[in-house]
Amino acid sequence: MSEFIPFLNLQPAYEATRAAIDAALLRVAGSGWFLLGGELQSFEQAYAQSCGAPFCAGVANGLDALHLGLLALGVGPGDEVIVPSNTYIATWLAVSQCGATPVPVEPDAASFNIDPLRIEAAITPRTRVLLPVHLYGLPAEMDAINALANKHGLKVLDDCAQAHAAVYRGQPVGGLADLSAWSFYPGKNLGAMGDGGAVSTADAALDAQVRVLRNYGSRVKYHNEVKGYNSRLDEIQAAVLSAKLPALQAATAQRRHIASRFLDGLAGLPLVLPQEPPGLESAWHLFVVRHAARDRLQAALQAQGVGSLIHYPVPPHLQPAYAELGYAPGDFPVAEAMHREVLSLPLWPGMSEAQIDRVIQAVKASV
Ligand SMILES: *Cc1c(COP(=O)(O)O)cnc(C)c1O
Repeated sequence: MSEFIPFLNLQPAYEATRAAIDAALLRVAGSGWFLLGGELQSFEQAYAQSCGAPFCAGVANGLDALHLGLLALGVGPGDEVIVPSNTYIATWLAVSQCGATPVPVEPDAASFNIDPLRIEAAITPRTRVLLPVHLYGLPAEMDAINALANKHGLKVLDDCAQAHAAVYRGQPVGGLADLSAWSFYPGKNLGAMGDGGAVSTADAALDAQVRVLRNYGSRVKYHNEVKGYNSRLDEIQAAVLSAKLPALQAATAQRRHIASRFLDGLAGLPLVLPQEPPGLESAWHLFVVRHAARDRLQAALQAQGVGSLIHYPVPPHLQPAYAELGYAPGDFPVAEAMHREVLSLPLWPGMSEAQIDRVIQAVKASV
């Protein structure tokens, strides 16, 4: 049988940028400086520029980017934050870590993203922040979300963990909200060689607050303004990310090419394909199809040597971790149907045309 096609293969991206990455690793090793140094500063500046925001602060991971971003916006115990009912659990956990309550809102069935038409009904006097996610890389409807926030005096923090280099009506994602939270987890579209995250913003005061929170609540060493955290993007990760950032646009173009091959090759089959509405450019972090017999489809692909994953099998409101909120099956039916039906096909920069064809043929033979 021919070679197995894994769901994700990070090796081709490393090979493509190997010289720059290896040089970055050795540069830091020889520098004798490992935290809060020049590598972090230059990555922060380059990344801010790439996402169209004046400021960017590196932090330890994507969850911390969300958590510290919410704290900088003043979210605390008793507050409510509106989150999508279908997202990775980190979006919700960041709210809980502030002592606030995540209030789920159902997605739009076509885009998988939070449905702006359903947000207003979830706003209460305790609501402080709207927290949309650009799920699978497709930008959320930010104009409608920002308009609702303005109308109700709320802040917007967007979870950009899956949306590096995504474009919303001509503007890069990352400069569209009060604060934007990023993850550089290795499998993300811009991935470190370990954990990493960042918060981008156009607001100098919010940027300063995130910087204080990430470093023990201190602006001046050994002077602590608030009870902060240890959440720093280390010099090795910052240097690796700086080495990889120049390749992000080309890697995104490859993702977009693979996605368009899938959309063409799988058109007309009895399964629901992802959509890219006019004006939105997905970063295609994931290519997610929907099928009523999802588990059978996944098994059939596996039997033909094609890996796949489920993002995600259980929605946050039905996780044991959120039993305290008292939700039951049926409370968020749009999200629950998605979790039953979604399947993510292999998609990574460096995938060959032959591998793309094999994925298409395997899906055709399986539905
Ligand atoms: C990956 C991810 C996060 C968390 O990022 P980490 O760096 O793993 O902490 C948050 N939200 C979404 C949507 C993600 O995909």
